Amino acid sequence: MSELKVIHLDMDAFYAAVEQRDHPQYRGKPVVVGGDPKGRGVVSTASYEARKFGVHSAMSCKRAAELCPGAIFLPVDMDKYKKESRKIHYIFRKYTSIIEPISIDEAFLEIEDGNAVDIAKKIKEDIYNSTGLTASVGVSYNKFVAKLASDMKKPDGFTVITYDDAQRILPELPIRKIWGVGEKTEKELNNIGIFTVKDLLQYDHEFLLKNWGRRAHELLQLCQGIDYSPVQIDQEIKSMGEETTLKEDTMDLDVLRNYLKDFSLAISGRMSQKGIECRTITVKIKYNDFKIITRGTTLNRATNSPYTLYECASEILDSRVPLVRPVRLIGLQVSNLIYPYDPVQISFL
Ligand SMILES: [Mg+2]
Repeated sequence: MSELKVIHLDMDAFYAAVEQRDHPQYRGKPVVVGGDPKGRGVVSTASYEARKFGVHSAMSCKRAAELCPGAIFLPVDMDKYKKESRKIHYIFRKYTSIIEPISIDEAFLEIEDGNAVDIAKKIKEDIYNSTGLTASVGVSYNKFVAKLASDMKKPDGFTVITYDDAQRILPELPIRKIWGVGEKTEKELNNIGIFTVKDLLQYDHEFLLKNWGRRAHELLQLCQGIDYSPVQIDQEIKSMGEETTLKEDTMDLDVLRNYLKDFSLAISGRMSQKGIECRTITVKIKYNDFKIITRGTTLNRATNSPYTLYECASEILDSRVPLVRPVRLIGLQVSNLIYPYDPVQISFL
């Protein structure tokens, strides 16, 4: 259980680093990728120089421009970043087949044969040699501690945490560092006097378990450095979707379109988080006689834009779904998924 075999690898300020590599004039300068300084859009990635001013991802570009007046704003060039992501995954696959991508620039790897520390060093080196980009890498005996490790020294970090190290390091950490402790949980814990991992471990466990149940159990385990979650290969996901049984059966197109709008936004959000795109969009309808029909469209170009999803879905609804009876359930599904690190970029045109 304490064998070092999990690697967490996170590219440093990925989009910004790619731009600084390709445009030497931006090196050493605050670079913000995403949106523009007039306030449209949000920050996708800020370079370390921009982070010093307090700029971070998901912040509005307007705010970023206020904090860092000298920032250089650049548009997101996803095709370029995906190309780098594919190179990185190609390197991963040379060393292991157990890869769990978390996003376009972050993944967990499990090493079955060989010394994970040596292999992690080689991977980091290979990535630098092949892309000119740096990664922060953590090696440990489970996913949770490996991620803690890679977070410890950024950028260009390399950190190994053994089981014994973890027992020493964990108690000193603020409770917020534990997986699943967001702002809300942190406040709840602070309210009962828990600020660090040590505070939680010394707290009355029975009280925690009684009040928080399963959540407390997971939290206590993580605080002791225990995490059994496996490194999971997610290429298996073939489709994503959303559906709802309506409160009242309806034949009102506007009502149905509104559902498709919400679904498009939700599905697009989930896809872009992982850098996934889809080619096929399918609308599902169940009438009040429980008869189901599904109608789909396959695009020439892969997408994860909420507008494109909605446009296609409402077009299908308008022209290919006969509203002969009231509708009881509506759903939207995307399939033919294309992962950002897919080794082969197939041209469909
Ligand atoms: Mg990163």
